[in-house]
Amino acid sequence: MADDQAAGQTILVVGGGISGLTAAVEAAEVGYKVLLVEKDPHLGGRVAQHYQYFPKLCSPSCGLEINYQRVKNNPLIRVMTLAEVEDIQGTEGNYTVRIRQNPRFVTEKCTGCGDCSRACTVTVPNPFNFGMNEIKAIRASHAMAYPGHYFMDAAYARSAEAQTLVSVCPVGAIDPNMSATTLEEKVGSIVWATGWQPYDAEKIQPYGFGRFANVSTNMRFERLANTYGPTGGTLTRPSDGKEIKNIAFIQCAGSRDHNHLPFCSRVCCLASMKQATYVRSQFPDAKVTIYYIDLRAMDRYEGFQKKVEADPSITWIKSKPARIDEDPVTKDPIVVGENTLTGVRYADPYDMVVLATGMEPNSATTARVPAQAVAYDEYGFVVKGGQVLSTGCTATPLDVAAAVQAGTAVALKAIQSAARRG
Ligand SMILES: Cc1cc2nc3c(=O)[nH]c(=O)nc-3n(C[C@H](O)[C@H](O)[C@H](O)COP(=O)(O)OP(=O)(O)OC[C@H]3O[C@@H](n4cnc5c(N)ncnc54)[C@H](O)[C@@H]3O)c2cc1C
Repeated sequence: MADDQAAGQTILVVGGGISGLTAAVEAAEVGYKVLLVEKDPHLGGRVAQHYQYFPKLCSPSCGLEINYQRVKNNPLIRVMTLAEVEDIQGTEGNYTVRIRQNPRFVTEKCTGCGDCSRACTVTVPNPFNFGMNEIKAIRASHAMAYPGHYFMDAAYARSAEAQTLVSVCPVGAIDPNMSATTLEEKVGSIVWATGWQPYDAEKIQPYGFGRFANVSTNMRFERLANTYGPTGGTLTRPSDGKEIKNIAFIQCAGSRDHNHLPFCSRVCCLASMKQATYVRSQFPDAKVTIYYIDLRAMDRYEGFQKKVEADPSITWIKSKPARIDEDPVTKDPIVVGENTLTGVRYADPYDMVVLATGMEPNSATTARVPAQAVAYDEYGFVVKGGQVLSTGCTATPLDVAAAVQAGTAVALKAIQSAARRG
């Protein structure tokens, strides 16, 4: 157990993605109390949405499940889901934070039996699958969700049907009359781990995302490949359900571009290489084309790049495409541009085009830190210099292994910060 002057202090971790989860369990496992605040109904962050991890191409659910067990088995960790920090007052070692607890409309008595979901007649676009399919208005976020108890959409909770579900639940877990509450907590240090969101591809107008049905994004493609995704994992395109056997990936879509995200997100090249393997393993006769400015696969990831490059059905074109058109009859997206190495112009049709969009820090938009003692860089990442600590993709774009290292490291910083009473 911790025995220094920070002992007894609570460390607040905001964001329950892989970096926040790691920070929480590492701090708790050396004896500190942790309050983990997550705005979604479930933990896991973006990693829970991935189909496979590069470079090993294993399922992210194993790693997440281990962390959920560590959380579940540690009485020092208190988890609040559907919660957000509204205000922070005080200084290191002595903060008072105000937290808004949004209603779940389903209590922890829920066993996840699904009776309510089956009785519910209302569906909504599934946010976990980026709206690519519909899901019941009362549900678990996804099959591996932790915590596993259901939640109800707030708009549905106000409906007459929601009231009827109260009697459907065999354990009396449903309460459509729940309302939001606020509470104040004393904490010794604060770790901001609110991660990232995919850059809004509609802003890259020449590429037609949102206008053309078969122009997608890398995060949507993660869900499309997933067994629990909108097509049950079969790679078919939205316009007509055709199998995706001729696909293009456009790298740096909105990244390294002063009109959009000026920085490199570090993982997008690897993510497209990984997604090329999804297509090639599902359809052995499929062809993949990757348009790139330059490829970034550092250190140990170079071996993965070499493996993908060895596949003769994957073509690499050094070029930043000028635009995407759409064939009005087939709905095939047509990638238009000029090959940087040969100078040859192209206008090539595909079944689908995936835009490799980058990672925008939530701290730049939806998850600003409600405190004075915080430092941002020019892109909105929370960086060294303030009292509020940051980790994972809140600090800089990272792959999962690096996010876990960052989460572990910040646990020590949080312990030190809690000891620095202002
Ligand atoms: C297309 C794509 C594929 C990728 N594939 C891989 C891969 O195969 N292998 C790999 O190593 N990396 C991969 N990555 C990178 C990986 O997604 C990140 O490393 C990882 O998500 C970082 O986790 P994080 O905890 O920092 O952030 P996040 O996963 O974004 O977690 C942040 C958490 O904070 C919560 N949150 C947000 N705002 C608030 C708020 N205001 N209050 C409370 N909580 C909040 C969020 O809901 C979320 O749970 C990929 C990235 C992309 C773009």
